[in-house]
Amino acid sequence: MTATMDAETAETFESLNPATGEVVGEHPIHDEKAVNAAIDRARAASAWWSGLGWRERRIRLLNIKGSLTRALNRVATMIHQETGKPIEDAQLEVVMAITHLDWAARHAEKVLGPRGVFPGLTAINQKCVLEYQPLGVIGVIGPWNYPVFTPMGSIAYALAAGNAVVFKPSEYTPGVALLLAEIISGVVPEQPLFQVVTGLGDTGSALARGAVDKVAFTGSAPTARKVMAACAERLTPIVAECGGKDAFIVDADADLDKAAEAALWGAMSNAGQTCIGVERVYVVDSVYESFVDRLTEQAKALRAGDDRTASYGPITMPSQLGIIKRHIDDALARGGKAIVGGAESVKAPYVEPVILVDVPDDSSAVSEETFGPTITVHRVKSMEEAVTRANATAYGLAGTVFAKSRSAAMGAARRLRSGMTSINAVIAFATVPALPFGGVGESGFGRIHGADGLREFARAKAITRQRFAAPMNLVSFKRTDKDMAKVLQLVNILHGKHYK
Ligand code: NAD
Repeated sequence: MTATMDAETAETFESLNPATGEVVGEHPIHDEKAVNAAIDRARAASAWWSGLGWRERRIRLLNIKGSLTRALNRVATMIHQETGKPIEDAQLEVVMAITHLDWAARHAEKVLGPRGVFPGLTAINQKCVLEYQPLGVIGVIGPWNYPVFTPMGSIAYALAAGNAVVFKPSEYTPGVALLLAEIISGVVPEQPLFQVVTGLGDTGSALARGAVDKVAFTGSAPTARKVMAACAERLTPIVAECGGKDAFIVDADADLDKAAEAALWGAMSNAGQTCIGVERVYVVDSVYESFVDRLTEQAKALRAGDDRTASYGPITMPSQLGIIKRHIDDALARGGKAIVGGAESVKAPYVEPVILVDVPDDSSAVSEETFGPTITVHRVKSMEEAVTRANATAYGLAGTVFAKSRSAAMGAARRLRSGMTSINAVIAFATVPALPFGGVGESGFGRIHGADGLREFARAKAITRQRFAAPMNLVSFKRTDKDMAKVLQLVNILHGKHYK
């Protein structure tokens, strides 16, 4: 479809390799007209796709999964070039996207297909069917940090639910999106089931204002507000997956080596550019020193770079370097101490690991999303205090608890105000396609992944079929006093009881 769309636009932009500054690709800036034309084409494609039925869609989606698996290295190389992340991390990202595609394809009919519902005694003459029908065209707007895994959380589930998709990737990662489009159109050549519109924020805004049936947005909360405002014009519903300031809690009985290893990976992998990355660590007093020793020792072995032995790559979006620097400076200016790295660790385009302690809670390093390889570590008296301080943020995406006691870990996990919590491992929930993914508060709303993720892209349709005439003729002008007396008697028997 891009050939058609290229003819509709003249302006272009470049995607760059953040490690080297080299141009990876040049892409058209699709304007409102081009975006609307794509939505129109998607409308016809969605009717065709939903008409194929569950079985055929499942086969096609499993074949898209097969093509993506066979193209894994090609896609990972493009991710590596456009984001700068290590090639192995890019490969893992594609692996995770593949598992979601597989789950969505295999579970769509079971979760969304027609099922009988018990009508209840007062409507026993009705046969009830509940099914989840596709919405039509889904506009997906994606970020750059996981350019395959993150949008696939919407794309796979939207397609499996029977919709067509128009995807606006981040301006930092358009090449990855075009590879996805190539793979999907190879398996579904008949119709433009999945189209990519490239460009900057204006292209995303045109998609949100367009005649789509839902917008699946992943990005920052400030952009989500703009997208919601644009969607309000047509009452277009939206699912918003935004940023986070995730906490990592370490209890007194936790395995400290494993906890330090997990916290470090959660905070520093992908140069900290992970929505569910670890940004704050709360450690119970009695193990604070031992944990910090382990964390600093392991952190000193990490190195940012572009070579194959580097732990993580550059900061993808140059403007983020200023935010990371500001957070480190603010933490230090307010009495915080850098026990690994410091302000000098920001060496564009890289940031070496930074571990900060004694940082007050109102510092931007503790209250705002940093999105860099930095963490603040805090001493707390108890798990209760850890949870309270972890929850003292407008964000609520995910979190981690390390504790030996199962009940203490489960208790803390439940009380964390977030969409997901992982116990004794980091970000484990993201690798389980059956589990829903999404946030609270500034981290957004709605869910991708799992059965909830499939239903996010479908509308419930309720059908009743009268099998025989009701013993009481209630919804008719022919209703008698006798009918009313019977129903009032019945309702008293069924619902008039007092429960203790
Ligand atoms: P961003 O908000 O800057 O951009 C996201 C997308 O929105 C891009 O494609 C961008 O072009 C588009 N956009 C910009 N202005 C727009 C407008 N006015 N209307 C419509 N679209 C517009 O975010 P980003 O820097 O690409 O991504 C990083 C953010 O995403 C972080 O906050 C991160 O935590 C978050 N994120 C969240 C999840 C999640 O699942 N919750 C996953 C990955 C990233």
